Amino acid sequence: MQLELPLALAPVAAPKGALRYIQLGSEIVGYRLRRARRRSIGIVVDDVGLRVAAPGHTPIAEVEAFIREKARWVLQKLSEWRAAPKPPVVNWSDGATIALLGAPVTVELLPGRGGISLENGRLGIGLAPRAEPAALRKRGIAWIKERAQTLLGERLALYAASLGVPTPALALSNARKQWGLCREDGQVRLNWRLIHLPLHLIDYVVAHELAHLREMNHSARFWAVVGRLYPDYQKARSELRRCNHQLPIL
Ligand SMILES: [Zn+2]
Repeated sequence: MQLELPLALAPVAAPKGALRYIQLGSEIVGYRLRRARRRSIGIVVDDVGLRVAAPGHTPIAEVEAFIREKARWVLQKLSEWRAAPKPPVVNWSDGATIALLGAPVTVELLPGRGGISLENGRLGIGLAPRAEPAALRKRGIAWIKERAQTLLGERLALYAASLGVPTPALALSNARKQWGLCREDGQVRLNWRLIHLPLHLIDYVVAHELAHLREMNHSARFWAVVGRLYPDYQKARSELRRCNHQLPIL
């Protein structure tokens, strides 16, 4: 059971499939064609563009006829994606701003010092003199993930106690498309990027995934469990949707 995260948040991975071009109306549109074990042609439009999955034996002419049939929809979706707000990309340098627990934190470089500390809205990162920005980013993200592991573990233990179950095993996820996931074997996976959000939204995601230990579905019974753990869940759900696009790409 998973909570969806929009693709725009995810670190940019190379899309699968060969890049091809097709003329749709007056536009030349690039698309990725992936051969898949499936019965029919499927198309998706998202922030990576147009992607097509087709059965191995379908001739290209047939694939392209299918795309042309859907041309209006494809062009419409592409223009919606182009107009959608894009998440900010963090430029790791002295003075960069990162959201932690819903509040802005300023990165401060401390050349020649060791360690990382968070104090009064400043994230001091010690680095060897003349260190590269890539090293700064790596250290910063490692620290953030460590904090996420600790914090999410604490919240999970708190809500597990409230649900009356032993604290489940926690794994941090780096998933492209989800905030959290509760597996059939009881392991809970939480996206480390949750640490950007205010605590009450993190708690909602934690409560949601834990409730799946009782109900592996999104039935009325499931939402009743969520409601007992986290009474204001409806408000949190819509807030979570709204802040999706503001999360930075680190
Ligand atoms: Zn769910």
